Amino acid sequence: MRQDSGVHANQYVVANLFAVYPRAVAEHYVIAYFCNALAVQHAVVLYTYVAADAHLAEVGPDDGAWPYAGVCAYLYIADDVCVLADECRFVYLRRFAIKLLDQLMPSLYLLYYTINRNHSVKRCWPNQVVLDFIGDCNRKAYTMKKGRVFSGARPTGQQHIGNYIGAIKNYVALQDEYECIYCIVDIHALTTFEDMQMLQANIRGIALDWLAAGMDPQRSIVFVQSHVPEITELCTYMGMVTPMGWLTRVPTFKEMVRLHPDNVNYGLLGYPVLMAADIVLYKADTVPVGEDQLPHLEFTREIVRRFNSIFGDVFPEPKAKLTEIPLIIGLDGVNKMSKSLDNQIDLAAEPEETIKRISTAYTDPARKRKGDPGHPDICNVYTLHRAFTSIIFHERFASVALECKQAEIGCVDCKRLLADSINEYLKSFREKRAEIAAKPGYLEQVLADGAHRAAVIAKETLREVKEKMGLI
Ligand code: SF4
Repeated sequence: MRQDSGVHANQYVVANLFAVYPRAVAEHYVIAYFCNALAVQHAVVLYTYVAADAHLAEVGPDDGAWPYAGVCAYLYIADDVCVLADECRFVYLRRFAIKLLDQLMPSLYLLYYTINRNHSVKRCWPNQVVLDFIGDCNRKAYTMKKGRVFSGARPTGQQHIGNYIGAIKNYVALQDEYECIYCIVDIHALTTFEDMQMLQANIRGIALDWLAAGMDPQRSIVFVQSHVPEITELCTYMGMVTPMGWLTRVPTFKEMVRLHPDNVNYGLLGYPVLMAADIVLYKADTVPVGEDQLPHLEFTREIVRRFNSIFGDVFPEPKAKLTEIPLIIGLDGVNKMSKSLDNQIDLAAEPEETIKRISTAYTDPARKRKGDPGHPDICNVYTLHRAFTSIIFHERFASVALECKQAEIGCVDCKRLLADSINEYLKSFREKRAEIAAKPGYLEQVLADGAHRAAVIAKETLREVKEKMGLI
């Protein structure tokens, strides 16, 4: 392939792509950028893509939409030819690609390509010049981004305000500084068979909540764990370096055995291994956690250290990124907010339901009557005021603590104020959620695209792991 001086002059611009987008997406951009730059000289460019919803279309090089649409293949034809085709899944595309390869490209510079018995183009890579260029940009990008974040959540259905304050808000903020990968961990849900008939609806619920809260599927990879099957293979390999004693000593395993004595399965025991595999499959170096999850992350770090010491350095040791408000207590005033304990306020709840649920919140027991002075610092309602009222109704928030201490406000009014704050705070979230839910196929496309991009990273990690372990 001929190199274009304009491309190199703009290398800094291209490096920025890696700073803004996950690596897999940025690579698509760079190839496209390369092709565009050369097209100015050679004038014959064809991009073909197949979107995740099986819609087949041809677009020009200036169409900015295609990288988001789940790019499966794009081809560049010129005097010197670079072809990048990724899983041409449709007969039309396969035939078309074969025709191009056979008739239109006398001077292919490909590292390799494979045409299988079905005549499908499995994968064609551009020449070393392009690969070196991408590698160079990627290295530069690493100095611009702080690292790669991974976080997963079980599909328990709609997310609640505890999830939002403790995790989702943080997920959204991290997108500015990190390359973020957010996963709905459906395989983890199988360990306890919770609401299996609701699993798909729950996956949809959590994905809707994430997107409505500001998770950006163009900047972050958002996907479902089981849609990237490489996770189960890596989990098997990670299991080989995890001593049984480590697993049986995990406090949450003992707790689960106590809670589910009739279903103490292998998956439950191996839960921490799967969790470690989730993180390292994508070579994440940063994991946003609450304080209560630190021991789980430490377990992952121990498995990583053991793997690296046996087979050589493959995985970074992921470090914790603690959330600002690590623990949100539920409406019972005692336990962590949780759907299973029914002490939560769902993000997507109707305003009336929010008012109703908050009216049941446990408060300072010293306030038996309205005239009794209270202690806002030990009242969970006040903690939630800090999270919501302080942002929505600043002035009102400033006086709540004093009014409580001087018995000038009753708990009923105080709770009503909190409900109003939460409803106001979540108004745009709820509108956006309804909008996304009403778009046919949108959510499915986001998750399919996320899985595709996650799989690119996962396959590369697995290849490296298998090489280190002597499997290939
Ligand atoms: S007035 Fe508010 S902060 Fe004070 S105890 Fe009642 S609910 Fe809690």
